[in-house]
Amino acid sequence: MSVLSSRCFHCEEAAFEHLESIVWANGVTCPHCGSMSGKHYDLRKTRTGLRKCSDCRKQFTVKVGTVFESAHIPLNKMLQAVYLMCASKKGISAHQLHRVLGITYKSAWFLCHRIREAMRSGDLAPMGGNGGAVEVDETFIGREPGKEKKRAYHHKMKVLSLVDRETGKARSMVVDNLHPKTLVPILKENIDRESRIMTDEAGQYHHLKNDFADHAFTRHGAGEYVSMTDRTIHTNTIEGYFSIFKRGMKGVYQHCAKHHLHRYLAEFDFRYNNRSALGIEDGARHASALGGIIGKRLTYRSVNCP
Ligand SMILES: [Zn+2]
Repeated sequence: MSVLSSRCFHCEEAAFEHLESIVWANGVTCPHCGSMSGKHYDLRKTRTGLRKCSDCRKQFTVKVGTVFESAHIPLNKMLQAVYLMCASKKGISAHQLHRVLGITYKSAWFLCHRIREAMRSGDLAPMGGNGGAVEVDETFIGREPGKEKKRAYHHKMKVLSLVDRETGKARSMVVDNLHPKTLVPILKENIDRESRIMTDEAGQYHHLKNDFADHAFTRHGAGEYVSMTDRTIHTNTIEGYFSIFKRGMKGVYQHCAKHHLHRYLAEFDFRYNNRSALGIEDGARHASALGGIIGKRLTYRSVNCP
């Protein structure tokens, strides 16, 4: 049987039950007052998924207080979209979702952003530690708003990524420039001091030895991708991450405005951090994305007006 034949993708009631089993794993919880009384009124015969709190007497469904709140697309279609986005290594365009799901392009576009918001990790714990290696590198994409095309990367948007080699997880962010004054505070905030930092020879990473246990680099300019003296010195893991990100951004999304870029990064980080090589397959990745919908809201206005 095809995965997409699952009932939760075709029947709205089954979709609600599926989402409830993830969001309310510990029992039905009122999103208005937090009550888990277990005596909430079941109004599902009136409207799919509807309940009424026995304490604050307000009505709610499992969508309230999540990124799906006030979305008018049937929940089973939204679960299909989440699945497709989780299972497509380089992403899926809003145009394709619009055609496949039979919803308007505008709805599909906003749904994609809702899902990216669900994929956004709130993990602020420092990476590395205990002498573990963290690879740091930057990449360039698209066009910085208002900048003329010039040589090299000056007119492009800049993305800084970190990959913890022990856990295999990535964390990416948009940066305005590559000055050490901008980058070093970000690195100190996101990486444990007891880590070995791996970079290329770029000038902005000089002097990192002062802030971390060790800083080693390869000379890409000289064709050295793995150090000849110590084979653990390289940035090949992060280059692999950038390869997926750039193929997705160029091949699937094609264009991305700067004020949306952080959401695309959240999407690529999420899939990379929940990838098959770490033992996480499509189904588990889908459940993990649905677990991320809680406590996040997104309005069309807030997404569209930077
Ligand atoms: Zn309540």
